[in-house]
Amino acid sequence: MKILANDGIAKSGIDALEASGFEVITDTVAQEALIDYINENNVVGLLVRSATKVRKDIIDSCPNLKLIGRGGVGMDNIDVDYAREKGLHVINTPAASSASVAELVFAHLFGMVRFLFDANRNMPLDGDSRFKELKKSYGAGIELRGKKIGIIGFGRIGRAVAKVALGQGMEVIAHDPFCESADIELDFYDGQTVNFNIKTVAIEEVYKNADFITLHVPYQGKPVINKKEIEMMKDQVGIVNAARGGVVNEADLLEALESGKIRFAGLDVFENEPKPDMKVLMAPQVSLSPHIGAATLEAQDRIGTELAEQIESLLK
Ligand code: NAD
Repeated sequence: MKILANDGIAKSGIDALEASGFEVITDTVAQEALIDYINENNVVGLLVRSATKVRKDIIDSCPNLKLIGRGGVGMDNIDVDYAREKGLHVINTPAASSASVAELVFAHLFGMVRFLFDANRNMPLDGDSRFKELKKSYGAGIELRGKKIGIIGFGRIGRAVAKVALGQGMEVIAHDPFCESADIELDFYDGQTVNFNIKTVAIEEVYKNADFITLHVPYQGKPVINKKEIEMMKDQVGIVNAARGGVVNEADLLEALESGKIRFAGLDVFENEPKPDMKVLMAPQVSLSPHIGAATLEAQDRIGTELAEQIESLLK
């Protein structure tokens, strides 16, 4: 049976699929040529990331296609309900990148509290002429240990963030209207584990008490954090948005950064991707990354293996 991985797949996935007897094709077939390619090659499984669109035309015109797989989370590029109505399996790998996003949140947090994002901008310019001044201006960093992290959205990624935070000696304050509490298991390299049960709290408690706030909610159609919510936060709070652009109102965030109410922000996602607002990109208190939360080699490996396991159990 042939599987076409049209947007690529990690070697771990190819190996696992081949070991179960599938033939994996990693050619990238142009969107308009896909229907003919699938039918001519008798492809039974089509794997995509975000580039290839799997719409009604493909579903209707490829009678031998049995499965559509998305490596990653969002399935906006697939007509999921329609495909399922027509009897196709539609699978994804929602948990594979949670730990990667959690680490990126901490990359921003660790960088922010020691001004690394700013030092990396200024050291190449002035590091040899103004070393002592730079040393002084970045010399009042703070530690994450002992601080309170507010996690808004306590699903897969929120809990992965809690794991890292607990390991770092932070107190976790979580809010999620659909989750009362969660068991978080910290697993260490030598097999030891430590268990925490975190009860979620009202959103006001997060705003009132958290030293840092990180969001891990789905896109809501409107921002979760606006001026009103920012006013409820502690002075000098740090914020991270690695969820979706628009979950934090960027204009209100910029205003709060300028006034000093928010001390710094880490942004992996932006309202106007892939052309974020220059004012956000240029803001001196912002640590930036171009939507790379899920993008680690390990996550790609886990995505490959998870897809292979699901395909094997559904098609074999
Ligand atoms: P998830 O579905 O496991 O968790 C989301 C949680 O948010 C759920 O528990 C839900 O109950 C909760 N929630 C919904 N509305 C809420 C609200 N108004 N207030 C508080 N909690 C609310 O999803 P996940 O896998 O943890 O992903 C979370 C977010 O991360 C998504 O927006 C996803 O798009 C984003 N994401 C970003 C990257 C990246 O590259 N930066 C990668 C993967 C996912």
